Amino acid sequence: MFTGIEVDILADGTLDLADEVLAQLDVVIASVHTRLEQSREEMTARVLRALENPYVRILGHPTGRLLLRREPVALDMSAVLRRAAELGVAVEHNAAPERLDLNDRDLRLAKEMGGRMVISSDSHDARNLGRMQFGVTQLRRAWLGAEDVLNTRDAEGFLAGLRARA
Ligand SMILES: [Zn+2]
Repeated sequence: MFTGIEVDILADGTLDLADEVLAQLDVVIASVHTRLEQSREEMTARVLRALENPYVRILGHPTGRLLLRREPVALDMSAVLRRAAELGVAVEHNAAPERLDLNDRDLRLAKEMGGRMVISSDSHDARNLGRMQFGVTQLRRAWLGAEDVLNTRDAEGFLAGLRARA
């Protein structure tokens, strides 16, 4: 059993929990949930700053898009995926059918940059677990396989594939 949390990336790229708290957790996922209207320059700097926090091990739903409802945030995805790959921060592929975030092209780009990925059903209820199939289909569409996705491994393999704990 792992302890983990999804923390907000605040408007300036800092996180909404103190490092002393994050240090106690096995897995920290950082995601943007607010101030989605920022310019491409601001949003890119914001996400890049969050990646530099040594406790962040996964970047959640990188574009924040909600299909038919909300456009993806403006983001230099190449810069973000490149830096995530350099730091060993995994990128979440969110399988909720209204998100499918990242899209197939950016998933492919993440792989080409040597990035690591995890898949999540974004379940807030056990009835949502079946949504994983939509994410698996999206990953296949990007020509990715189980070997590209850290949480297809056993527990030790999963943790070993994440950025080393700070
Ligand atoms: Zn989230």
